[in-house]
Amino acid sequence: LVGSDGSIHSTIFAEMSALAAETGAINLGQGFPDEDGPPEVLEAAREAIAAGANQYPPGRGILQLRSAISEHQERFYGLRPDPGSEVLVTAGATEALAATLLALVDGPDDEIVVFEPHYDSYAAVVALSGARLVTVPLRWPDFRPDLDELRDAVGDRTRVILVNDPHNPTGAVFPHEVREEIVRLAERHDAVIVTDEVYEHLVFDEPHVPLATLPGAWERTLTISSAGKTFSVTGWKIGWVSGPAALVDAVLTVKQFLTYVNGSPFQPAVAVGLRMDAGFFRGIADSLSAKRDLLGDGLRSAGFDVSTPAGSYFTVADARALGATDAGAFCRELPARAGVVAIPLTAFTTSERRAEYATLVRFAACKRVDILTEAAARLAGAR
Ligand code: PMP
Ligand code: GLN
Repeated sequence: LVGSDGSIHSTIFAEMSALAAETGAINLGQGFPDEDGPPEVLEAAREAIAAGANQYPPGRGILQLRSAISEHQERFYGLRPDPGSEVLVTAGATEALAATLLALVDGPDDEIVVFEPHYDSYAAVVALSGARLVTVPLRWPDFRPDLDELRDAVGDRTRVILVNDPHNPTGAVFPHEVREEIVRLAERHDAVIVTDEVYEHLVFDEPHVPLATLPGAWERTLTISSAGKTFSVTGWKIGWVSGPAALVDAVLTVKQFLTYVNGSPFQPAVAVGLRMDAGFFRGIADSLSAKRDLLGDGLRSAGFDVSTPAGSYFTVADARALGATDAGAFCRELPARAGVVAIPLTAFTTSERRAEYATLVRFAACKRVDILTEAAARLAGAR
């Protein structure tokens, strides 16, 4: 049976959001915003439906969106993937990840190197692909990989180095020397770099640097992103992958048999979003940065030890001082104890390393200010 080894199970997000709905607790678990994104993007989807964009779009996605993805990458990063051959639209970053790994893995001797903790679909998709998962730990409190551990993990069996930067669940942004080492190792061992950059616009300190922009990286890198976080439309499931044509073609070959195509009226709307002015992109990062500070202060006042994320929706806190020994049990009790839902970091780790993350909890900051303020008050009251 699928997942009999524990690699594939029901997602923690479904479990924790159901717990929030059942108990009426504030949901700082699943990472989705509780406010709508830019009105012009929402309006563009309504207009597309009214204009009849309701049938199958082309297999690679509509050209208007592929061109907007390419122009967006040029504007922010100086990359200019060819919309005709180097960009593919997918059903969210989730499908892009699945199609990419399934396309690249040849068999059970292939290894995929992943940083741990990791977004929950990574281990499941690696298991579906039949490859072996090799992990490099990111340790509390700054969650930076140790370069020696990274070097040890990559070898001639490495087919893919899978990177998520900015990182879910830790909020870490990789230092430049880590990015450079990833590219060096991929070159040395002829591995493909797959980089999940869905939080590319949610960075607080420095502009985002895509791995594909490093010298020597483009020709062996597939970059994945998604509209969900940038435009607060997580339910639209419009993602994309860009990179050299031969690699993108391989992903398309798998993708066409997963979903074929998706989201025709949402595709032109995301194109509108990607062409929005710089003020919009600065605004979403500034707003989330203020929320991160509010959440961090609230968690500190409630007695948590708190790490400082440089990007993403998330903040990791250590609940040890609140008596936690098992973050899973702590999170299952938190709705009754404090009226708040959060996610244990152990949901994002392999069983071998679970103990290292045993008291760490992930909180989502992508919620309204009044909701975060109320959550902080509840947590402080439950001390
Ligand atoms: N990768 C990461 C790191 C994520 O946090 C998420 C969740 N939003 C995804 C991929 C999935 O993105 P999408 O909703 O576009 O499938
Ligand atoms: N990416 C979001 C998170 O990490 C939600 C993912 C999901 O619900 N599958 O919370």
